[in-house]
Amino acid sequence: MTAKHISWKGASLLAFIGAWTVLSSPSSAAVSSDTAPAAHHMAGATALMMQSAASNPSNVVDQTKMTAAKARLDALLQREYPSLDVIYRDLHAHPELGMQEVRTAAILTKELKKSGFTVTEKVGGTGVVGVMKNGDGPTIFVRADMDGLPMEEKTGLAWSSKARGQFEGRDVPVMHACGHDIHVTWLIGMARALSAMKADWQGTLVLIGQPAEETLNGAKAMLEDGLLTRFPKPDFGFAAHVSPLPAGVIVSKAGAVMASSDSYNVTFHGRGGHGSMPSATIDPIPIAARYVTDVQTVISREKDPQAFGVVTIGAFQAGSAANIIPDQAEVKVNIRAHDKDVRTLLNEGAKRTALAAAQMGKAPEPTVRYLGGTAVLVNDASMAESAHRVLQPLFGPMAQFAPAAMPPASGSEDYSEFVNAGVPSVFFAIGGYDPAVLQSLKAKGEPVPTNHSPFFAPSAEPSIKAGVSAIVLSIIGGVKPAQPNPQPKP
Ligand SMILES: [Zn+2]
Ligand SMILES: [Zn+2]
Repeated sequence: MTAKHISWKGASLLAFIGAWTVLSSPSSAAVSSDTAPAAHHMAGATALMMQSAASNPSNVVDQTKMTAAKARLDALLQREYPSLDVIYRDLHAHPELGMQEVRTAAILTKELKKSGFTVTEKVGGTGVVGVMKNGDGPTIFVRADMDGLPMEEKTGLAWSSKARGQFEGRDVPVMHACGHDIHVTWLIGMARALSAMKADWQGTLVLIGQPAEETLNGAKAMLEDGLLTRFPKPDFGFAAHVSPLPAGVIVSKAGAVMASSDSYNVTFHGRGGHGSMPSATIDPIPIAARYVTDVQTVISREKDPQAFGVVTIGAFQAGSAANIIPDQAEVKVNIRAHDKDVRTLLNEGAKRTALAAAQMGKAPEPTVRYLGGTAVLVNDASMAESAHRVLQPLFGPMAQFAPAAMPPASGSEDYSEFVNAGVPSVFFAIGGYDPAVLQSLKAKGEPVPTNHSPFFAPSAEPSIKAGVSAIVLSIIGGVKPAQPNPQPKP
């Protein structure tokens, strides 16, 4: 189960990296020698940006002000980094699973209070909400996720995790293999920077530490616990994820960024009996086995071949001995899409195929239990463009833009819950790997350890500094949606 859980997200993140690595050509010749597609995308992106700048002249960046702000932020990060590094290593060595992030939440609470935030704990379980008012202006939301993964660390880092936690009733090793330790640290860095640089921005900040992103239920839990009603209602928001792109790269993408995800447990019911007398039984194993192959025709025959969609059977459990026909077989299904209509088609098709497989085997209707999921994460296009307009002059080729037409990742993020609750946002990808490390891996023909790998070890300093800088400078640069805050989607 643990391995299954890890592999469905790990595998999908590979595609995310594949799709986004190609973007980082100017600074990542080490990663990809094929710069032609990137040049093409960038030409498209530049044309798109020029178009929107022309149609939105009010969104002009004061370059002198931004250059000065970046210089002050760089100096602040230089001073603060040693203490941020201590926090990062401590978080890395003590990861906690979703809804068990008690220690992490306490550290974040203490640090936000030190920076002058009013902090509320235990929002949606272990969630943390810090609020800072700084005059008139928009309410700006920034989120970091806090949870680790049920897996054993193999990085060999001096600050490796030896922690253990409870996962589905079992004692398991725990590792920060997705970089959420870096996310919590950069949120603390942002709190310090925005508190020290109050003259550069106005409004209200709502900084949150979210539990249980990996199980895709932490964002929902915080919303259900009144995140948008008990605290100032955000006008727009920011978040970011560290990835195996070259360290310091900041990618802002318009439109869909991450896929939807839906997981089900399907139980096929049969009638158990002796292995020598199949006619006296209803054997659920061939029914479930047929389902495993037939469900893929939803992808190959029902879905538009141009559209992205994945159906994965991540678990199959049935039987105990060669001479016993069991009375049930259980499969776990995971579905990914980049579009809500494709999401509906795949979900409906997967359930219909389960029913048909059972009917074909004269079995009763299978029990389908929804395990969890989240919608496609869509960035506000005007915010993504505006963020790039602010960041590109400050970071040069380290700031990259991906237009809406660029395919999103196949991984998923429950940050989509906040967007769909009415918080238009930019979700950045931040590069975390030293280009020299990427180059040496490439030279050896070895793959880069992705998020969810037991060897995942991004360089903390450039990742944390880039994460803090991307969001702090977007806030100071006045990045906001072109349209006023939309109504929440039903
Ligand atoms: Zn993850
Ligand atoms: Zn993650």
